[in-house]
Amino acid sequence: MKFCNIASGSKGNATFVYTDKTLVLIDVGISYKALIKQCKDVGIDLSRLDAICITHEHSDHIKGLKTLSNELDVPIYMNPKSYNALKQKVGDILHVQEEEFVHPIQIKDLEISAFRHTHDAAYTQGFDLSDGNKRLVMATDLGKVTPAIYKRMQGADYLYIESNYDLQSLINGPYPQYLKSRICGQLGHLCNSESSLTIKNLVQEGSRRFMLAHLSETNNTPELAKSTLLNTLKEIKVKEMDIDLKIADQYTPSEVIEI
Ligand SMILES: [Zn+2]
Ligand SMILES: [Zn+2]
Repeated sequence: MKFCNIASGSKGNATFVYTDKTLVLIDVGISYKALIKQCKDVGIDLSRLDAICITHEHSDHIKGLKTLSNELDVPIYMNPKSYNALKQKVGDILHVQEEEFVHPIQIKDLEISAFRHTHDAAYTQGFDLSDGNKRLVMATDLGKVTPAIYKRMQGADYLYIESNYDLQSLINGPYPQYLKSRICGQLGHLCNSESSLTIKNLVQEGSRRFMLAHLSETNNTPELAKSTLLNTLKEIKVKEMDIDLKIADQYTPSEVIEI
């Protein structure tokens, strides 16, 4: 199983997860035009796409969805609550399959399950994808790592996890107070120290591979996110060379990660 993050952050999110047989897109938070361009750059053939899964209806996760749904006849799996909220804003979208993920769904050789996040959308979910051999867990847009979410992360071969903001940068930054409170609240986003603590616990249990994602351009930098994590890992005597760490970018696709 492989994945390639196309965009990550408050200006748009999109990630391809694939095997030799199957191609799935998680979120369409960039314009269709931008997606086409990025696919060309990374060598992904969109006409091969088997399914789209949506985490939630915030615009940085669905911006290009409606246009894409008009262009490609591909099922879009979305929680009914997310779809209802989205319909109010943009009207009906073709090919949506309302899916509560009570059970995992099978897209050819990829099994996909979802787990609920605490976040201020109608409904927000993370995804747990497996090819029967390896497992990728994706968790962004969550106010906290609940015990149930942590359980999902345990044993993942690769964890794509939000590291949205640096608390001091947020406090001292330019955002209005209501927005600061929203971001660091229980229904907002994960800060560097929260995701670092989660990763530290997972590393102690044997996890090694992580991509920090959904970094704020205003309240964070890749350097801050990385140094916070490495300082936290120092507490358990784990160094950078002991883990496989990547940071997702807003504008530049990641390399193709083989899991
Ligand atoms: Zn988001
Ligand atoms: Zn969101």
